[in-house]
This record gives sequence, structure tokens and C-alpha cells, in this order.
Amino acid sequence: MTSTTGKVNLLGLTQPQLESFFDSIGEKRFRAGQVMKWIHHFGVDDFDAMSNIGKALREKLKASAEIRGPEIVSEDISTDGTRKWVVRVASGSCVETVYIPQGGRGTLCVSSQAGCALDCSFCSTGKQGFNSNLTAAEVIGQVWIANKSFGSIPAKVDRAITNVVMMGMGEPLLNFDNVVAAMQIMMDDLGYGISKRKVTLSTSGVVPMIDELSKVIDVSLALSLHAPNDELRDRLVPINKKYPLEMLLAACQRYISNLGEKRVLTIEYTLLQGVNDQPEHAQQMTALLAKIPCKINLIPFNPFPHSGYERPSNNAIRRFQDILRKAGHNVTVRTTRGEDIDAACGQLVGQVLDRTRRSERYIAVRQLQSEPVTAPVAANRS
Ligand code: SAH
Ligand code: SF4
Repeated sequence: MTSTTGKVNLLGLTQPQLESFFDSIGEKRFRAGQVMKWIHHFGVDDFDAMSNIGKALREKLKASAEIRGPEIVSEDISTDGTRKWVVRVASGSCVETVYIPQGGRGTLCVSSQAGCALDCSFCSTGKQGFNSNLTAAEVIGQVWIANKSFGSIPAKVDRAITNVVMMGMGEPLLNFDNVVAAMQIMMDDLGYGISKRKVTLSTSGVVPMIDELSKVIDVSLALSLHAPNDELRDRLVPINKKYPLEMLLAACQRYISNLGEKRVLTIEYTLLQGVNDQPEHAQQMTALLAKIPCKINLIPFNPFPHSGYERPSNNAIRRFQDILRKAGHNVTVRTTRGEDIDAACGQLVGQVLDRTRRSERYIAVRQLQSEPVTAPVAANRS
């Protein structure tokens, strides 16, 4: 909770944690609600702007606390309305946040770690290796930054961010406490007031932590499946060797049934040409998922340099989808968004070095900081 400045960063504190903080400095607990609204509804980071808090308390807060989001390195807006932020976290690494508007929805894709230790064979974040866990302030700070870019958003008005998916960089279940705290703030009315159905955690399958998650929060769950049998999944998603499919699907089923309502598991399946996109894979998948209430989201592979994989043809994607549909599954194909700013799944950060060459394709590029972004990113990729 305490940063390098020795001050407590209030940005990452849940309501109960903030109440304890006010207790600890001899102040009334109700101050937590006031301060949360200033931080999350109005995007304030200056105690002097908090007009319903007296000067004496503001001075006291300034001495012991701060409101510090991650440093914004750049903000890009794609021709299709997708926005992407590159932010630098305390470890010096950069992570990315992507906003995707679609119909009446605005989905924010949030990162949980700089890099990732799990090394899925088709993921550019995995290729960087693990760098650091984000703090709770750095996770919720991405929502805070995105929200501020749409202007201050008091409660009960239409919000630009209606959904949050923990599908950016990193494996959220391996940064458990910080991700859970951030998701609590996302759902809190004093935070972002997003309904529990609209906050989704995506995991590649850290089985014990799926059960732990179920004990503390009831957000929606997405499983990165990517292969319908252990032999293939061991190769694509190495954590499968530790927690194979049968164990994994049982944990997901437990999670869904603990939610107690009509909630379904989202299955993510990245289609890789000639690897997991054949009719036999679709057939195996229908058998595997027959008893699990789920919706399937097919993600055509988003290429990155030296990946060794290709995106299947549209015909192959349609054929795969049809087999699943005929078996009665609810299947969607994720359309690629923000490709001109490298904001698509699995492309995060890997291409930041190429940004100057691509700049003519941006309709708006705002370099918020004058220093170049290449150094920490290059360090990540080594
Ligand atoms: N670590 C978590 C969440 C982040 S990855 C997880 O693996 O679920 C978010 C999604 O993007 C995952 O389903 C992941 O497998 C997918 N993905 C990664 N690289 C991709 C790529 N190059 N093309 C398409 N999807 C990709
Ligand atoms: Fe990590 Fe998810 Fe990428 Fe796998 S797909 S390497 S778990 S971020």
C-alpha cells in the first residue's frame, strides 16, 4: 500500500481498506466514501480539489497519502474508436489497456501483470516472460485513466465503460490479491459501479486459484481453452501439464455453479491455422463442453513477428463455427478491433517499437510524454 514516497496510495484501496486507513489516522470512517467518489467518479488526484473535506484534514491527507495512477506513456485512438494506453508501472515496465466501443457497450481490457510467466506458444505477452505483478493501484489505475479520458463520470449517468475484461497482459489469477481488490473497486458504487456480470476475469487455467476466486468474489469467468484435448493443449498452453483439462473444466463448473444464478462460462479459443482449427477439433470441443453452460468466443489468431503461427482463412473459421453451432453452442467470432494501433488480443506491447513507422495510419496519436517509449519495452522483450 505504501509507495516509494512513503505515502499510502489511496487509489488501490477498497472501501473497507480506505475506512481502516481513516481509522488509523484518527478520522471518521465515512470519509472513505467521500474520498472514493472524488477519486473514482471525478478522477481527482489532488486533495485540495476535494471541496467537502475541510482544510485541516486535506493537509493531514497530503502529509500521509497520495493518489497516484501509473504513468501514461501514450494514448492512441484507432479509426474504429478503439483506444489504447501504454502505461508505465513502478517496476519500469510498460503495460497496455484497450477500450473497445461496440453498440451501446464500452469494454475496457485491463492488464494484470507486466509480462507473463505462463508462456502460451501463440501469445506475445508470454514471449516477454514475467516481469512484475501490478499493484492494486496499477490495475484499477488503468480504469481510472480510461474513465478520466471520457470526462468525469458521476454515478447514475451513462458510463463510457460498461464492461471490464481482465484480458490484457498477464495471468490475473497469478496476481490474485491485487486483481481481486481492483475488481472490488470496479463493482463498488463508490468506484465504477459495474455489475458483477460485466466484470470478467480470463484465465489460462490456474485451477487452485479458480476455487479461491469463488470464495471471495462473483465476477464472470472466461477460460482460455484453445485446444480440445490434453495432448494439444499441453503444447499451446503449458500450464495444462500441471492442471489438465478434466481438472480444469471441473473447477470451472464448480465456479459457475457457486454463482448460483443462470451464469455461463465464457470459452475463449484462439484459432491457429492448421493447428487447432480442424473439424475434428470442433467435434472434440462439442463433446468436451456438452455439459457445461457456456458461450464460445472464437478469436482468429492475431499475428505478431516470429510467432510461427497464422490466422485461419475466413472459410475455415466459418466451418469451425458451424460445427459448434450445429451442436447447439452459442458461438461468436471476435472481430479484430484497433488493429491499426496494435490493440488486438495478443498484440499488446510487442509492436510498440514500430509505432513511428505506423503513425500515418493513426487518426489521432497523442504522445503525452516527450520521452521515447522504446527503452523499457525493449528491456521487456529481451
Ligand atoms: N492470461 C489470461 C488473460 C490474458 S490473454 C488468459 O490467458 O486467459 C487474453 C486472451 O487473448 C486469451 O484468451 C489469450 O489466449 C488470447 N491471446 C493471446 N495471444 C493471442 C493472439 N496472438 N491472437 C489471439 N488471441 C490471443
Ligand atoms: Fe499469459 Fe494469457 Fe498470454 Fe498465456 S495467453 S502467456 S496466460 S497472458
